[in-house]
Amino acid sequence: MPEVLKPDLCVIGAGPAGMALATAAVAKGISVVLIERGATGGAILNAGGGASKAMVAAARAAHFCQNAGRFGFKEGRGKVEFLSAHAHVRDTMRAMAPNSSRERIIALGVKVIAGLASFKDKDSVVVGNAYEIAAKRFVIATGAVDAPSSVSGLADVPHYTSETIFDLIHCPRHLIILAHSAYALEQAQAHRRFGAEVTVLASKPPLAEFDPEFTSIVLDQLTREGVAVRVADTILRIERDRPRVRVIMASEGAETEIEGSHLLVMPDRVGNFAELNLAGAGVSHDADGIVVNKRLRSSNGKVFAIGDVISGSSRSVAAAIHQADLIIRDLAGLAVDRSAAPIASVVHTDPELAHIGLGQEGLKKHRDLQYLRLGFADSDRARAEDIRQGHIKVVVDSRGRILSVTIVGPQATEMIALWSLALTQKLNIRDMRKFVAPYPSMTEISQRVAMGYDGPAETPSRVRRLLNRLRRS
Ligand SMILES: Cc1cc2nc3c(=O)[nH]c(=O)nc-3n(C[C@H](O)[C@H](O)[C@H](O)COP(=O)(O)OP(=O)(O)OC[C@H]3O[C@@H](n4cnc5c(N)ncnc54)[C@H](O)[C@@H]3O)c2cc1C
Repeated sequence: MPEVLKPDLCVIGAGPAGMALATAAVAKGISVVLIERGATGGAILNAGGGASKAMVAAARAAHFCQNAGRFGFKEGRGKVEFLSAHAHVRDTMRAMAPNSSRERIIALGVKVIAGLASFKDKDSVVVGNAYEIAAKRFVIATGAVDAPSSVSGLADVPHYTSETIFDLIHCPRHLIILAHSAYALEQAQAHRRFGAEVTVLASKPPLAEFDPEFTSIVLDQLTREGVAVRVADTILRIERDRPRVRVIMASEGAETEIEGSHLLVMPDRVGNFAELNLAGAGVSHDADGIVVNKRLRSSNGKVFAIGDVISGSSRSVAAAIHQADLIIRDLAGLAVDRSAAPIASVVHTDPELAHIGLGQEGLKKHRDLQYLRLGFADSDRARAEDIRQGHIKVVVDSRGRILSVTIVGPQATEMIALWSLALTQKLNIRDMRKFVAPYPSMTEISQRVAMGYDGPAETPSRVRRLLNRLRRS
């Protein structure tokens, strides 16, 4: 007979979304059961999310040292050592682990059950024969998995995934990456910086969700560093030619092939729900994940979903944690702003890329847009750091409302945080001038771009009328 539990809340999956929700809920006095089938920590700890950032940091440091002659560093162009970078990745993961450990979650008051959860019916979840949980509410936070690949021959050829690539202790001679995601580009650049030849075979243009003007700056840098990015080649099959790997493609009507020493496959990720018996629970889904409304509620009123498992999710930690926060506010009876919160999209290549707000299509629905731009070259801090690449573009409407911000350059993923606050708090572009930025700092760039705003309050009406007439003529 299974042990029957009747908590207020049952959370399935102990990744960033499930852990954030479960620990915040117990802090509010809500009884919580959290079910995890494997190690706690989710994709950040166990599927390469955190490891990839450690690898990128090691590669950035190696690249900096190799090019630091201009700062008087005479060992510049020294040797980089892949094994040391591997040790840094391993140490980083070891340092990150305690925060997400089962012991910590239990110590905070959550009942953690190890095992695979699946719905028995609309009102209960079972974990094997050991537990039956009849909670007041269920929250599915089971994350995402790699979408199955249809490439012929792949199943018979040894290859790495985002999870296993960090097992490599020697730098691959020639790494072929089948992917188009931002995470794949980060890995491409990092491996190139450690000396691998790298070819990315992308089925569609990488970073297509970003402004092409900014994307091209990142892709040009990758090309300059020697990463080959090939788009739209149809992959016919993959063969193993020990110890090499061969990818055969159709390109412009002809068959071509490319040979590498290692293969990394990073397909799109899709919601992970196959083992949950969603049909038995009356929870609707599509091919990409669980379908939810603005309240994150599924077609079964008792069941919610958060994080990567949601259909159409942006699949980021920031989105997952924000959704956990919405649920917790809802449970605690606090006011919840359900308008879609602006969440920044970030890419950790070098230069970094960051965007928040409307995309190209969304902007087309607005009229009288003003485009404010500033190159990093105008910043004294950037000059001192010898930062030669970087650019910010802010789009505002005629009333100075901030619609979109895109930044490319070193620290772009940090600089976007200020704009994230501005958009969340619905600040006007004029507000972005009303603080004192440290000098010299990268933050100044954000403030100075706002200075370029030419709105009704800035220009006397007589001059404005004249300018409008000139613009129309
Ligand atoms: C290579 C890589 C790089 C990334 N880099 C970034 C980045 O730079 N920034 C960023 O924001 N995001 C990044 N991500 C994405 C990020 O990891 C995810 O968005 C985030 O982990 C989603 O959290 P989650 O809790 O929804 O799901 P997950 O982290 O996937 O956790 C889901 C958990 O549910 C468990 N589970 C699944 N099914 C069951 C079941 N039936 N019963 C019990 N337990 C179950 C799983 O074992 C897992 O522990 C990256 C991802 C990858 C793969």
